[in-house]
Formats: sequence, C-alpha cells, structure tokens
Amino acid sequence: MLADDASVFRPDLLRGQVALITGGGSGIGLGISELLASLGMHVVIASRKPEHFDSAREQLAATGASVSSIALDVRNQERVKEVVDSVAQQHGRLDLLVNNAAGNFYAPSATLSPNAWKAVVEIDLYGTFHCSQAVYPVMKAQGGGRIVSTSMTLHYRGWPQMAHATAAKAGVDALTRTLAVEWAPERIRVNAIAPGPIPTDGVRKAFTPLPESGIPDVFAAATERMDTYARDHIPLGRWGAPRDIANMVAYLASPAGDWITGAIFVIDGGEWLAKN
Ligand code: NAP
Repeated sequence: MLADDASVFRPDLLRGQVALITGGGSGIGLGISELLASLGMHVVIASRKPEHFDSAREQLAATGASVSSIALDVRNQERVKEVVDSVAQQHGRLDLLVNNAAGNFYAPSATLSPNAWKAVVEIDLYGTFHCSQAVYPVMKAQGGGRIVSTSMTLHYRGWPQMAHATAAKAGVDALTRTLAVEWAPERIRVNAIAPGPIPTDGVRKAFTPLPESGIPDVFAAATERMDTYARDHIPLGRWGAPRDIANMVAYLASPAGDWITGAIFVIDGGEWLAKN
C-alpha cells in the first residue's frame, strides 16, 4: 500500500513558480503534474497527443490547479525552442523542467530497425538534450533553475530486447552529470530520477515481451501474477506509483534541493539491487 504522504509538503511550497513537464499528461508525468500543481506551481504539460495533454489539463484545472498545455514533440528542436520561449514570455520565468517524455517497446537487437532505434533514442536522449538546452538561457537569465530528467535502472545490468532504451537512458545519466557540472555556475541544478516498475498504461503496452523470449511479463494483467512479482522481486513488496516519483521531483524543486546536483535517484523499492 502507498504511504499516506499527504502532509509531507506545505501546500504553497512552490507557489509563484513555473514548471514545464514533457509527457506530463499521462502515467508518471501526470503524477508529477498533479503533485506540483497541488503545491501551487503553475504547470505546463507538453506532449504530442491532445488526448493526453488536453485531458490532463482539464482534469487538473477542475481541481483548481493553475495549469496549461501545449503540443510538443521533443524530437523537434525548433519546436522545443518555440515552446520554451512561449512559456518564458507568458509567465516571465521557468523554474523547473521535467524531462519525462519517452518511448519504449521490446525488440530483439539483431532485428531492431534503424527507425525503431532512432525513434527511442531521439525521444529519450535527444529530447532530453533539446529541452535542457532550450531552458538554459531562460534559467541563466533569471539566476538559476532546476532540471529533473527521467532515467531508469534497466541499464545497470543487461536487459535483453531493450538496447535502444537502455542506451538512451544511459545517455540521460551521462548528460545529467555533465550538465550538472557545466551549468552549476549559473545555479542550474541538474538531477535525474530512476523509477523502478510502475504499472502505467504506457509501460504496460511497451513492456509486453513475446512469450518465446523467456523475459518475465512483469506487467501481466492478472493481479495475482503482479502480486507474486512484487513479493518475489521487489524487496519493499509493492509496485511503485507515480506519486513515489513525484515526491522526489517536488523535493528537488523545493529549497531543500538547493545543494543537490548531478545526482541520479533510484526510486524502485530496492528492485534492481535484488534482481535475480
Ligand atoms: P507513459 O505514460 O507512456 O509516458 C510517456 C509520456 O511521454 C506520454 O505522456 C507521451 O505523451 C510522452 N511522449 C512520448 N513521446 C513523446 C514525444 N516525442 N514528445 C513529447 N512527448 C512524448 O509512460 P510512463 O510509464 O509514465 O513513463 C514516464 C517516464 O518514466 C519515461 O521517461 C519512462 O522511460 C520512465 N520510466 C518508467 C518506468 C515505469 O515502470 N513506468 C520505469 C522506469 C522509467 P504523448 O503520447 O501525448 O506524446
């Protein structure tokens, strides 16, 4: 069961600040959007599909949150710059970028097509770089800011049929450490979060391995199988929830994150350490 964390953050902790969250309309990104908005931040949700970004905006606005949404494909560097400039112009600042957008699917490396490789690396790694580079001048001009990118743990070990995503996320880790050092003089803190398994709709679709692959179908629809997986493979005994990840993003965005940069926070109930 998810801990009752409702009282951890003060309701106005991030009031007056502005966040841009790529992929903020579904799954983990939506959990991050919800929590930051509930702490008073203005949240801009950016992704490709209106059924994600518009419906999330409507859902959050109905709770009284300050939220807007905009169409964005993070692979398109020019569009990324337009979106960042329009957010900065409209709100006069941009305090937090959350690089959460990603694409993923299982595919054997021997037959992975160049387009499939390109699509995932372009969304996960190029997208993270495009967005980070675009917010740099805005954050520099305002005297600082925070970037939090979403990584994973699968590249800490070999993970068959995931060469594209593991390579891209290893790149995100490298980018996080390098930008942290390079942009510290501008007071831009650059960190990453590495979630363990969180059964979002997106990941359930992406992580359904072919039966003959021998890879465990960890997101099998049957609740009983999911319970068994959590008991046997996640030391803390439960699946993750978007809120588990959102809490760390809120912490990093808060004054408590002032002296944290270049860190990659694994939030996975101990799963990757215990993986067998
Ligand atoms: P998800 O719901 O599928 O989220 C992916 C989001 O990215 C969607 O909102 C999607 O919105 C957006 N997106 C995809 N391509 C995009 C593009 N080219 N430009 C802009 N936005 C794009 O999956 P999730 O499980 O919440 O994953 C969120 C993040 O956590 C990802 O970075 C993922 O790698 C990471 N992660 C997840 C898990 C897990 O177990 N769930 C574990 C480790 C890491 P549109 O379709 O509207 O563009």
